[in-house]
Amino acid sequence: MCTMPSRSKLIRTALWRGLRQRCPHCGEGRLFSGWSQLERCSSCAVVFVRNPGDTWAFTIIGDRLPLGAMIVLIYFGVVRSHRVLGLTMLAVLMALGVWTTSNRWGAGIALHYLSRVYWPDPADPIPVPPATGPR
Ligand SMILES: [Zn+2]
Repeated sequence: MCTMPSRSKLIRTALWRGLRQRCPHCGEGRLFSGWSQLERCSSCAVVFVRNPGDTWAFTIIGDRLPLGAMIVLIYFGVVRSHRVLGLTMLAVLMALGVWTTSNRWGAGIALHYLSRVYWPDPADPIPVPPATGPR
């Protein structure tokens, strides 16, 4: 029990690794190969997404909702009064959204991983972390 790293540190580490598209478990293996998500970590063999669709809730909460809210805010806040500025902001937001897709996807995988660490499923064993230091 006392070998577990503190909760907030574990969350920060896993999210940071996810944003950098690294395995949230060990920080070594890659999450993606090009645009396709890998099934398991090449370094520690943790399975990233056990069932297809397991990360959809995290993807929607962390990804679609904020993006949608920003589009609505820009549309009603700016586009109606400053059409060119508003449309430019929308275009920039879209470009940023596409550009950071795999980073946000990685964060979703990290959140999913954290949920499996905190609410373990006996049928879904997670390997013991190789090291607790941040990478
Ligand atoms: Zn790993």
